[in-house]
Amino acid sequence: MRVIILTFLFVFNLTGLEAQDRFRIKNKAGYSEEEIAPLKEAYELGLRALMEAHKEMDDIWETNKKGKEKWDLRMSRWNDNLNFTTWLGVAKEARQIRLAHRRLYKMQQAMDRKKVYIFFQSPDKSFNCKWSKHAWTVPKGRVAIHCCPQFMYLTKDHQSKAFVHEIGHESGLFFHQKVYWRRAAIRTAKERPIKAVKNPESFAYLVMEYYR
Ligand SMILES: [Zn+2]
Repeated sequence: MRVIILTFLFVFNLTGLEAQDRFRIKNKAGYSEEEIAPLKEAYELGLRALMEAHKEMDDIWETNKKGKEKWDLRMSRWNDNLNFTTWLGVAKEARQIRLAHRRLYKMQQAMDRKKVYIFFQSPDKSFNCKWSKHAWTVPKGRVAIHCCPQFMYLTKDHQSKAFVHEIGHESGLFFHQKVYWRRAAIRTAKERPIKAVKNPESFAYLVMEYYR
């Protein structure tokens, strides 16, 4: 059963917090500081991209207009935004925009957290690492991301994307709905946009559009 969740997290100095205040690292795999440092950076870059995506969502959302005019405006802004339409689908109903707005807010709340637990799992000790490729979370209680040994070999941008994906789980997107990787995410946005705004992979790809 693929209940296992891909990803992890890290943050630096975005809100004036130093990395050592941000993370609680449980280093079961016994990595050195040098090995862990790049993951912290990947987390930070993922968070920055998420903040950019959230800001863009707010630009779509904010208006003084009321009622139908308000939603017409939000919808036309959304549909003019290639990043949003590619990954979350063309907006045809208000619900899509409302769900995405709420989700991006919650993801930022989860990722930009004072205490983030990162567990570095050793291969033989973690059942979950045998089945999932990179990382997993238990979306309950504290924000905690478990990184498997394989995670260390991902490129930095993949690590950032994986962190954002896990943060999706940590902010209430519990299920993948069989949407994994780029091609499935694009197809879901086209064919089932409501499904796209309910799965972490779609949000992870959207956020990566703002990755610098
Ligand atoms: Zn997942």
